[in-house]
Amino acid sequence: MKVTFPHMGTMWVPVKTLLEELGMDVVIPPPSTKRTLSLGTRFAPEFICMPLKINLGNFIEAAEKGADTIVMAGGVGPCRFGYYSRLEKEILDDLGYSMEMIIIEPPEKHFIELVHKLGKLKKCSPLKALSAVRLGWLKCCVADNIEKKVEKVRAREKNPGSADTVFNRALEKLDYVRTRKDVLDVQKEVLEELDSLVSETSRQIIRIAVVGEIYTVLEPFVNHNLERHLGRMGAETHRSLYLSSWVNDHILNGFFDIEGTEEACKLASPYLNHMVGGHGRETVGSTVLYARQGFDGVIQIAPLTCGPEIVAEAILPEVSQRERIPIMTIYVDEQSGEAGLLTRLEAFVDMIYRSKQNSKKLTAVKGL
Ligand code: SF4
Repeated sequence: MKVTFPHMGTMWVPVKTLLEELGMDVVIPPPSTKRTLSLGTRFAPEFICMPLKINLGNFIEAAEKGADTIVMAGGVGPCRFGYYSRLEKEILDDLGYSMEMIIIEPPEKHFIELVHKLGKLKKCSPLKALSAVRLGWLKCCVADNIEKKVEKVRAREKNPGSADTVFNRALEKLDYVRTRKDVLDVQKEVLEELDSLVSETSRQIIRIAVVGEIYTVLEPFVNHNLERHLGRMGAETHRSLYLSSWVNDHILNGFFDIEGTEEACKLASPYLNHMVGGHGRETVGSTVLYARQGFDGVIQIAPLTCGPEIVAEAILPEVSQRERIPIMTIYVDEQSGEAGLLTRLEAFVDMIYRSKQNSKKLTAVKGL
């Protein structure tokens, strides 16, 4: 059995470790590229959301490398994600790829259900499965901690691109190490290295939050390196969703007490007080939170035709007005390009800088 899974940001690091620790032979799909997207686009229904198309491309490319089994998350709620695995399996069957699909559904009561399910996959003891989950989870959190630091350093680095080079190297090191101590050592070493990249010059830094649909927020190939571009423009970024918060909420049944989506859901309530699927409610609530935390702007990003984010988008103008924060919405699909995105980002960042300068002038005049 050769197991594969779809890409989503840094997810390949913890998932590969988890599956290998369970004793499985893992095939990582090649990084998502235009070929991946064009394979998915060719075989998926035209109006399905973009993450499914890229998943499909990942699976076909992994099958070309010998994978015969897919591990895929399931889902519940009013959004298409719950159907992804079944639809993908049918399309792959029709194309002649006879791959087995293992669906990891969210546990009903406790994350220990996941441990038992994983143990059964490879007929290993629950203890071994638990230790694999713990190591995978640690790597997931460490990758997020490092990425959060990178989001700050990018806007302040002496040599443009150096934080990303360190980050990519860090992921390779994280993939390689196999004990909890070594994982924590990598974290310490990389965070220190990132600190050393910061320039002393006093460039004015703005803070922009990225909210929206999870896959688009986490996957740089799909969001056209949105955060990297913002960083180079002098914007520190923060996301409403990180991989660890998604895994904790979706796969581990909220077992860990980490920065998650609970507060965002509460803050969404005057504007949107029920679930609309995906992370639509979190998008609204996180925007409120970021406005109250003094962020300078919010960018909502989502795949075209994403229902939950369309609902959120309709509400965000009111949030923008009441909470006094600029918001820009970006939809991506297979026609989107990096150049178009860059133009919009430059205009948004420029507008924020100008409004900050104007408000300073205004304060100075008022002070006189
Ligand atoms: S959240 Fe949006 S993009 Fe993601 S599966 Fe649901 S509808 Fe599709």
